[in-house]
Amino acid sequence: MIDAIVPFIGLAAAVSFVLALRWMSAVPTARRGVLVGVAGMALAVIGALLRPEIIDYRFIGAALVFGTVIGVPMAMMPMTAVPQRTALSHSFGALAAALVGTAEFYLHAGSIDGGTMLALGLEVLLGSLTFTASLMAFGKLQELLPQRPITFRFQNYLNISLIVTAVVCVLLLAIQPQWTFLFPVIVILALSFGILFIIPIGGADMPTVISLLNSYAGLSAAAMGFVLGNTLLIVAGALDGSSGFILSMVMSKAMNRSFTNILFGAFGQVQAKAASTEARPYRSASPADAADILKTAGKVVIVPGYGMAVAQAQHVVHELYDLLMKENIDVKFAIHPVAGRMPGHMNVLLAEANIPYDRLIEMDEINGELPMTDVALVIGANDVTNPAARKDPNSPIFGMPIIDVDKAQTVMVIKRSMAPGFSGIDNDLYYMDNTLMIFGDAKSVVQQIVKAIGGK
Ligand code: NDP
Repeated sequence: MIDAIVPFIGLAAAVSFVLALRWMSAVPTARRGVLVGVAGMALAVIGALLRPEIIDYRFIGAALVFGTVIGVPMAMMPMTAVPQRTALSHSFGALAAALVGTAEFYLHAGSIDGGTMLALGLEVLLGSLTFTASLMAFGKLQELLPQRPITFRFQNYLNISLIVTAVVCVLLLAIQPQWTFLFPVIVILALSFGILFIIPIGGADMPTVISLLNSYAGLSAAAMGFVLGNTLLIVAGALDGSSGFILSMVMSKAMNRSFTNILFGAFGQVQAKAASTEARPYRSASPADAADILKTAGKVVIVPGYGMAVAQAQHVVHELYDLLMKENIDVKFAIHPVAGRMPGHMNVLLAEANIPYDRLIEMDEINGELPMTDVALVIGANDVTNPAARKDPNSPIFGMPIIDVDKAQTVMVIKRSMAPGFSGIDNDLYYMDNTLMIFGDAKSVVQQIVKAIGGK
């Protein structure tokens, strides 16, 4: 009876994963997408636990308790720590795939056919390299390891020869499954490659790499599905692998990085901090001045960034939005694809504060409206507004698409100091004639503006 049910549970889980991805791609259905994804994963776990091969649940029970004890606090991390948390989850997933592959290899050594051995070799190769690479990425983002890129001579040659040798070993093992001595060689090469792959990449580019590692972990799981004859793992792994790959392409495009650079890990160097020594004049204003300017505006575009996330200013920003809309001022939010520290970071924050999503306008669309905008209010965003990306071919961010706030009549920037953003470079926007700097913590400044306009 149970044997007959398990495939249907697997099918329901697979359909849930597809629907979850579909629904998560649009703001109005995203919440439903997450719930369906969670339900699908619960079904997948239940289906796996019902398999007749399981004869003893004690170790599984212990692993469940252990995993819950680690997983629940991980889920409580602040949203700004999501990239490193994701890296850690990938490392666990990849380790699981590599360990399952290793167990299968040693349980059935000598009786594994060439095709299965190829899948098993790829599973262990991708799982092992993703494990160490994700741990390294976690260490860099958590600042346990230096964020700056570490490079040395012939680094790319060394990395490429490591990975090529590992792939050749996998192919040889598939052709000659009795050459079992190759297995530990593959594991060692893959673990080493994972570490060396991340070393030359700077912290700023790490989230893109994490998304790529997500894709590798997915492919490893899909390979595991072939080894174990588990269709659900193949489907889930393929979805994970392809969505991770697409996300890293979208992110690299939004950050103006070429994908070849990502794969060969040399791009972190571009992030070298270009400290500016000359002091340039800029104009600053008080929150009360900002309130006066906002009150006289007809059209306001708010540009949120990482600083709004750090200050947790989204709720008070909603109050400001309500007040301005009540004054018949047209207020929209400009969403840059890589504002903040993870894709969709600003969408998530603004949705959490219940700001109507039809007011969140994507970069390409809002840029057409900025020349007709009275006030662009930049809240804790920096790099994504730097006009050097459009105007200065020598800038490290030249070519990165930005929100064209400099084209608005007046620009007001809320941040604590003149310090640079994630890319470490000065922002030309702050020195323009139509820009006013309003210094302070984003939440406190917006609160003061709200008060000055007449809110609570
Ligand atoms: P930035 O990192 O460029 O700038 C954020 C600014 O916020 C800082 O200059 C800081 O200035 C200010 N800030 C920090 N804390 C506060 C606070 N409490 N109150 C007010 N301001 C504060 O952020 P952006 O969102 O503009 O750009 C994102 C950057 O991250 C880009 O370079 C992007 O490429 C990169 N990135 C994004 C990823 C993504 O997926 N979203 C992934 C990887 C990288 P000050 O210290 O003076 O207050």
